[in-house]
Amino acid sequence: MRDEFDDNTAAESGGAVAVSEGDDNSVAEFNDDSDGDTLREECGIFAINETDAAPDFAVLGLHALQHRGQEAVGLVSRLDGRLRARRGLGTVGRVFSNDSPPPRGRAALGHLRYSTAGDAEAANIQPLLGETRFGQVAMAHNGNITNAGLLRRALLERGMRFASSGDTEVVFQRVAASRAASLEDALADAATELQGAWSLALLTERRMVAMRDPHGFRPLVLGRLNGAAVVASETCALDIIGAEHERDIRPGEILSISDDGGEESRIVAATETTTVPERFCAFEFIYFMRPNSAFMGLEVSAVRERLGAELFEESHVAADVVVPVPDSGVHSAVGYAAASGLPYSQGILRSHYTGRTFIEPTEKIRHLGVKLKLSVNPASVRGRRVILIDDSIVRGTTMPKIVALLRRAGAVEIHVRVASPPFRRPCHYGIDTPSRDELAAHRFGEGELNERIGGDSLSFLSLEGLYRALGGERGEGRRFCDACMSGEYPTVLADLEAGLPVGRIHN
Ligand code: SF4
Repeated sequence: MRDEFDDNTAAESGGAVAVSEGDDNSVAEFNDDSDGDTLREECGIFAINETDAAPDFAVLGLHALQHRGQEAVGLVSRLDGRLRARRGLGTVGRVFSNDSPPPRGRAALGHLRYSTAGDAEAANIQPLLGETRFGQVAMAHNGNITNAGLLRRALLERGMRFASSGDTEVVFQRVAASRAASLEDALADAATELQGAWSLALLTERRMVAMRDPHGFRPLVLGRLNGAAVVASETCALDIIGAEHERDIRPGEILSISDDGGEESRIVAATETTTVPERFCAFEFIYFMRPNSAFMGLEVSAVRERLGAELFEESHVAADVVVPVPDSGVHSAVGYAAASGLPYSQGILRSHYTGRTFIEPTEKIRHLGVKLKLSVNPASVRGRRVILIDDSIVRGTTMPKIVALLRRAGAVEIHVRVASPPFRRPCHYGIDTPSRDELAAHRFGEGELNERIGGDSLSFLSLEGLYRALGGERGEGRRFCDACMSGEYPTVLADLEAGLPVGRIHN
């Protein structure tokens, strides 16, 4: 089975993106979410400019970002002004090893992705690499373009050819098709038509470029390692290579760094006449980012502890112990326990060794899955009233099993507390979510959902509590997207309105 491939030649014509055929049979074995009951970030980005061993640093950075995508990884290196790619299906450790190292170079751009099974073909693995009139360009994207289908149609009518089904190639082709004088101008030009979420890193023959969409839905940070610029989705990827976090890439910013270190920055808006409010994904803080990352001046673990403290303020009941659902509920449970004065106990243990089961996800196996991953320590919960903390409820299929495990272990009361507002709407900005009809908080009111879960009580954090934990109020001046919780989408959803698929299809 071949699931890795080199891509040493750029596409020859029409700005088409150079992609190669791969073998996607291995996708199922990397999917450890057999219930489909979690939210999944779709991408992570790491880029480093002009330094020795750049590809090795990039591989390390991608390791630190592995939580942002486990199904495919790619890396483009630059050596003597030429770009070469290696991509494969699977985790970083599987694709890059001593036997299959990344291409050598003094600059590197890496990308991780998660995708739905039908969308996992090798042609969609990033970074995309193509020959354009700006020379060779490699592009890595985190986010989701909400009008990609319409733009794709328009570009096809102009004679452009597509090699993949993803929205990233729509961005690439739109940039390549621009008549602007420079790549940076072409990105600014493309931004006038793109809608939705895009954090981008690009590598060219002479430059590294980073860009965030004007709303700034997805994170992207700038770091420095011995003078070399580093761009990454999260600061945890800077920490792993010993790079300093210099600042966040700003919403709407195009930052271009040449191979001799010269930098140019500009801010673009979605149109020339509108001011676009910042709308960073609140769920990055609730769930997606690694706890040891920081963004917008906020440390992720500290925000999660405040979410737990707010949850205590809003919905405490008499209890004996606070137990998190590992690993997602851990920091909120720490915050809840500190605010309540109750003991914190790791009453549920998560096995980190079950890996993927290589088993078809039939109904029978799905119900076994949680027992493979989670087990209860009876000594922590026997005879006790338990506050059970998780970050969110998606389909609601896992929580009843956890509650049943706790009862079997002797817990006398179980009060489920969720450290985010109810997740009622799909995300269209780069998070893979089930359809609205599959979301538990959309289907059921709190009382009915609690009955289905089997808890003694159930409470979610309020939107106001979420904003207090983020250090602000949910007013006009807010800096966060909360569309999956409030239903207020910050952008037009043009593909959706045109009856074209959005969200999980593109990316
Ligand atoms: S809809 Fe939800 S998950 Fe998507 S960007 Fe907004 S807050 Fe994040």
